[in-house]
Amino acid sequence: MYKYLQAEFNKFITSKISEYFSTYEEGFYDLDELDFNNIGYKKEDFIEKFIKPFQNVSFQDKIKILELVSRLSYTYFREHCEFQITKPKYMRKFNACIWTIFHMYIMNKALGLNFDYSNDSIWDIEMSEYLEIPYNQCYYCGRPNKDLLGNKFNKKKKYCHTQYCDLGNTNEYAHTEQCCYRQFRMRQKLFRELLDKISTGKIKKYFSLNNSERQDLIKKEFINFCENLYNTNLKIDYTIQSPNKYAEKLP
Ligand SMILES: [Zn+2]
Ligand SMILES: [Zn+2]
Repeated sequence: MYKYLQAEFNKFITSKISEYFSTYEEGFYDLDELDFNNIGYKKEDFIEKFIKPFQNVSFQDKIKILELVSRLSYTYFREHCEFQITKPKYMRKFNACIWTIFHMYIMNKALGLNFDYSNDSIWDIEMSEYLEIPYNQCYYCGRPNKDLLGNKFNKKKKYCHTQYCDLGNTNEYAHTEQCCYRQFRMRQKLFRELLDKISTGKIKKYFSLNNSERQDLIKKEFINFCENLYNTNLKIDYTIQSPNKYAEKLP
């Protein structure tokens, strides 16, 4: 029903990712901080040799390369200097993008979005490549492996970290106010209600809108919704884990 929002989401998340990248590149790599005389390279040669080869690789590969360089530096140079692995400053922003993509994926049906995750051509930034499904981890706040009581996640209970959370109970009010599942469901429910109010025009406020005004308003509200979700996800302290990659705690 709201399939046309896929293009809006794509634009939204692409702009967040490029925002991350531009802050990242400007904020983290200030080449002029390097003393090129000491390194023995001219600045242009340094860029040619160490920066350019990586400029055109995919986003995921860039992240892998950065991780690898960080680990190799630690392995080989730590004895010679006080070297600490520094996590990229803006990692949290990228992490929030990845969680937002996942959250949109699990809300796809409930919000009536009908986004198509099978067709890569729809996603400018190879979105399906960024879609990760958390493994033994709270689906909402990212807390990995155990709930607050220390009970390990298993197949039956793995989507929320709150103690005694019963995910079989879809009545939000049966969950405590702090429950991640409840908070997520409430957000989803309120937004679905808003979408339906606007599209049916049953409420006075939306009654006089013509079709294109209606669609514009829905797009606007959807972007607000994405923005709020993204801002909430900036607070997530963990990356998404998979069976062979542990969640990392962000600084
Ligand atoms: Zn949680
Ligand atoms: Zn709960």
